[in-house]
Order: sequence, then C-alpha cells, then structure tokens
Amino acid sequence: MTLSELPKVLVSACLLGQPVRYDGRASGHPDVLRGWQAEGRVVALCPEVAGGLPTPRPAAEIPGGQGGQVLDDQVQVLTLDGEDVTQAFVRGAQQALALVRQHAIAVAVLKSGSPSCGNRLTYDGSFSGVKVSGEGVTAALLRREGVQVFSELELEQASQALGRIAVPSAPR
Ligand code: SF4
Repeated sequence: MTLSELPKVLVSACLLGQPVRYDGRASGHPDVLRGWQAEGRVVALCPEVAGGLPTPRPAAEIPGGQGGQVLDDQVQVLTLDGEDVTQAFVRGAQQALALVRQHAIAVAVLKSGSPSCGNRLTYDGSFSGVKVSGEGVTAALLRREGVQVFSELELEQASQALGRIAVPSAPR
C-alpha cells in the first residue's frame, strides 16, 4: 500500500495544534496524529469555525448534551448568554460529512467533551462543568453516517480501526 492509498482520517483541527478552540487555544498535538499527518492521511477540520463562528467565541453547550437532538431540531445549541448558535453547529457538522464523503473516510478522531466533537461525553448545558453521556453535533452526524468516531483518548482503538480498513487493490 503506498502512502497515497492509506485510508484517510478526519481529525479535529484543535488536536493538530491549531488554535481554533472557543478560547483561542489548541488542544495539544499527540504524536500519533503527527505521524498520520506525515503520512498524508489526515483531513483536518474545526466544525465550529467551518460553520462560521469566530475564534475566540463564547462557549456553547447543548441543553441535555445530545447532539443528535440538535440534528433532529429538538434542542438548540446555546451560549452562556442565550445566543442560539445552532445553525453554525449544524453547518459545521454538514461540512465534516462532506469531507468524509469526499475522502471516503471511515474513521474520525474528534476532541472529547466538545458540543461539536465529543463522542462519548458532553457538557449538560448548565455551564457548570457537568458532563453527561452524549455526543456533540458533528460526532452524532458522522456516527449516523457510519463513521467510527474516536477521541484523542482512544488513539489506540482508532489506529486499530484504521488498520482494519481494506483498501481496494489497484486495477491490473
Ligand atoms: S473541539 Fe471541534 S469544534 Fe471545538 S475547537 Fe476543536 S475542532 Fe473545533
């Protein structure tokens, strides 16, 4: 398998050292992700920036913490001041999905705990630091579309999932 044939992986931009978080910071840059970048297999995206939000930006949470309910128009994504930023979050998720389809991506590594990217836990909407079992908006949309979504806390599992992806052999 040549480097150009390696399966690509969608990665939260803040996990690649890009200062795109709501507070204008990055979220680290793990060696595993650096290695995948060197192999040319990383597709980076910050869904919130892609959806049109600035950096820095007010922190936002999903009341109840369920990104799937945002996609189903059941709850809004709100800032602490009550600003409705739902549309930007949904636009960002749709851009992530477009990249997944464009690059035939089956595995994503997204930042844990985020109202966009969190894959297992999100904040509960009270802005008091309480997390609940749930997914961010982008993580929920990608998982609905069949993408295996991991976090930076699950890089070993993500590596194994990538290794199991069969790449079609080139025509003879
Ligand atoms: S967690 Fe997701 S939405 Fe938040 S800064 Fe990182 S890439 Fe952007």
